[in-house]
Amino acid sequence: MLFFRDRRKRRVCAVGLDGVPHGLLQRLAGESVMPRVAAIIGSGGLREMRASLPPVSSVSWSCFMTGANPAEHGIFGFTDVSADSYQLRFPTFTDLAVPTFWDTLGKQGRRSAVINQPATYPARDIAGALVSGFVALQLEKSVWPRDHLPALERMGYRIDVNTQKAREDPDGLLDDLDATLKARAEAVRYFWEREAWDYFQVVVTGTDRLHHFLWSAVDDADDPRHDRAMTYYRAVDDLVGDLWDRLHQGRPGDREGEGFLLLSDHGFTRLQQDVRLNSWLRESGYLSYEKEDPTSVADISPDTRAFALDPGRIHINTRGRFSQGCVDPDDAPALRQELAERLGSLEFGGRPVIARVFTREEAFHGPKATLAADLVAIGHDGFDLKGTSSVSLTSRECTPGTTPSCGASCRCPMILTYQSQPEQSSNGFPAEAPGPLASRPQSDHGGGRLTCGSTTSAASRRRSPGASWPP
Ligand SMILES: [Zn+2]
Repeated sequence: MLFFRDRRKRRVCAVGLDGVPHGLLQRLAGESVMPRVAAIIGSGGLREMRASLPPVSSVSWSCFMTGANPAEHGIFGFTDVSADSYQLRFPTFTDLAVPTFWDTLGKQGRRSAVINQPATYPARDIAGALVSGFVALQLEKSVWPRDHLPALERMGYRIDVNTQKAREDPDGLLDDLDATLKARAEAVRYFWEREAWDYFQVVVTGTDRLHHFLWSAVDDADDPRHDRAMTYYRAVDDLVGDLWDRLHQGRPGDREGEGFLLLSDHGFTRLQQDVRLNSWLRESGYLSYEKEDPTSVADISPDTRAFALDPGRIHINTRGRFSQGCVDPDDAPALRQELAERLGSLEFGGRPVIARVFTREEAFHGPKATLAADLVAIGHDGFDLKGTSSVSLTSRECTPGTTPSCGASCRCPMILTYQSQPEQSSNGFPAEAPGPLASRPQSDHGGGRLTCGSTTSAASRRRSPGASWPP
């Protein structure tokens, strides 16, 4: 059923490009891979933003959809730790502690169509329609209202590519990315026509997946899959252009671009090295395990003083905060300072690993701040700060330059708006400067090993930083 649409009503359309750095979008636009985006950038304002802390999709998108800090909305990462059992858990949409802006719009009588929004699983009632993005386990629980499910199934809609197969079959991943984007574009057309929306949004997840598994294909023109990767970006450009055209169709009175928004949640960079923080904490005497072959922080011993969660989140095992906490709350500040300083002196191959260490107070503001990590470390470009505990990953052997376990990530997401005049770059993160608690590395090492007693093996990435996002 088609709804009558009031052509005088102000509408907003947002396109999210997951994991697309500001610089990459500018480059692809400049190289004519994305001519529609290039034209849109030319008439609007594209700016760098700071990513969330930590700079991962679930946190960034939760900040976006609520306008709140993690200590307000309660999503601190893809995983969280139980204060009683130390078991890891995966926060879902039901953990989001504050309303989304489309909840607020709904209360004001405005309708939204939100397609493939990360961190909204399971889908719940909104004024309009919601299709959850990753992490979403079943399509049946990802669609609200449920009436839209048969139509999505008919069009072969899929929430995400098959990431299990992605590494072993990169060409299959590219086929999967194409098919997923095609079905996503069909869903866009479907909801555009069937929902009487005031706010319309779609997020493209494939860009993040492409970067995670095939960053070289995007970043290196000599990569054998570079053309395929650019073909994918051309299809993304078509989708952005189609939405732009649709928004302007039949609305000649509007200022061009009014109500159009293009944004990403974090960036990407080439992976050089995974940094296994729990291995470093163990070797530095802050953490021990009860098992020979630990698989998670649930296996730590009661005398553990600090442990890490992905990515770069360090919790002090404080008495009162955790059931087996052994650190007196009065001693926690000094331990935190010590950890921050030692993190700040980590090096690998003569390069400083940590760009900045944020304290809880610097990173988080809100009623749930006590649940946040005590420290959030941000790596320099090329270093991925892992929180794994697996013993097979605690090897000190380093293999820089091997196939990354993930592509890279995270500083400099971007936003393109037409809400106001273009402004100066707002990326004020001092990536090269250590934070107030991190001391500058003093190098006397090199040779491809983390110094300051650490760990590592495979290669990775993850950069990013900033305070919270949106700024
Ligand atoms: Zn993302």
